[in-house]
Amino acid sequence: MSDADPDLVLRSTRVVTPEGIRAASVAVTTVDGRISAVLPHDAALPPAARLEDLGDDVLLPGLVDTHVHVNDPGRTEWEGFASATRAAAAGGVTTLVDMPLNSVPPTTTVRALETKRAVARAAAHVDVGFWGGAVPGNVPDLKPLHDAGVLGFKCFLLHSGVDEFPHLAPAELDAALREIAGFGGLLIVHAEDPHLIDRAPRPSGPRYADFLASRPREAENRAVAGLIELAREHAARVHILHLSSAEALPMIAAARREGVPVSAETCPHFLTLTAEEVPDGATEFKCCPPIREAANQDALWQGLADGTVDCVVSDHSPCTADLKARDFGEAWGGISSLQLGLPAVWTEARRRGRTLEDVARWMSTAPAGLVGLAHKGAIEPGRDADFAVLAPDETFTVDPAALHHRNQVTAYAGRTLYGVVRSTWLRGRKIADHGTPTPPTGRLLERQPTA
Ligand SMILES: [Zn+2]
Repeated sequence: MSDADPDLVLRSTRVVTPEGIRAASVAVTTVDGRISAVLPHDAALPPAARLEDLGDDVLLPGLVDTHVHVNDPGRTEWEGFASATRAAAAGGVTTLVDMPLNSVPPTTTVRALETKRAVARAAAHVDVGFWGGAVPGNVPDLKPLHDAGVLGFKCFLLHSGVDEFPHLAPAELDAALREIAGFGGLLIVHAEDPHLIDRAPRPSGPRYADFLASRPREAENRAVAGLIELAREHAARVHILHLSSAEALPMIAAARREGVPVSAETCPHFLTLTAEEVPDGATEFKCCPPIREAANQDALWQGLADGTVDCVVSDHSPCTADLKARDFGEAWGGISSLQLGLPAVWTEARRRGRTLEDVARWMSTAPAGLVGLAHKGAIEPGRDADFAVLAPDETFTVDPAALHHRNQVTAYAGRTLYGVVRSTWLRGRKIADHGTPTPPTGRLLERQPTA
């Protein structure tokens, strides 16, 4: 901590704090990038401070998106650190955590981690952390990766979509989890059961219903059940990625009541888009697990409301436009939404009577907590001065040309959303103004030692 005086005050009639939404003046010391105090709205300015009066625009903690596929290096025609972090900054995201696959090399060794860091360092418009990968044969790499600062480990139970990041067979999963539990790490899992996916009809053709039938809920439900058992057996922290099947919610809730260290996230597309509305051939809506029916979506919202689901993160997973062929069997699975997650989720949250306090908890505080970034995720003294300034009652229509990610394909094209991100702030400096990013000032983040 610094003993320097605050030199910036952001004042708003609606500041989203852990104690609720209230009028406040947030004092920031830009030399260390921290919030120094949350003062009354009409507090006198500290002597050296510049005032940024936001009026009635809402001051939110910057979003922490723990599920982003940056694909850099190796598949930079799909995405890259410069373009992804520009999209993040424009969308109110101040921290992202990069997934270990789709880049080449994948982040399964310390050497690969250093390769990624070297690429990200100069290009990052927001703060960037890294997940490691657990793949067959790399158990000896897990502890070194943990010591080198990855925030946890991702694995698959079935084909990942790219051959250089193979999935774990049951015995390999058990061995990886035992190792990770031994040093108090976190395992994050793409939870679909390979046998039930194999038994389902093969996807092909332009009909969304055929694709949906190829990724049944039972595959998710069974995988989640197995992971809960493993988390219990090893007393190991396991996080369920991109939960789509709401049928798995009661199991997760029961396990948590029992004290099993399992957590879950869902994604903006599962909360805002429905299977019923996907047009034939619209493979920009393809992801795995898939977007399901409206009734399932209602139940996911209930899971967020009752705390069974902790986080809402993007699973931004872009590719080049040609890989989004009009055939659901052939198209790349992944939805690009890094820049749109906040307005997409807020639009639906608002319709369902939820508040921006809820949105900040799901999209900032809880993801920061998941990965142990204690200095991120809330507007309170001592935390980083990371903010998203939102005009929540204004609308805009999604124009893919206004998106900063590399390939401007998105399932949200043409939608009218509530919530315009006016500006984004990282450690007390404005990093995007009305959708336009400033030069990169992001830093690379490492796992923080737990107390
Ligand atoms: Zn993903």
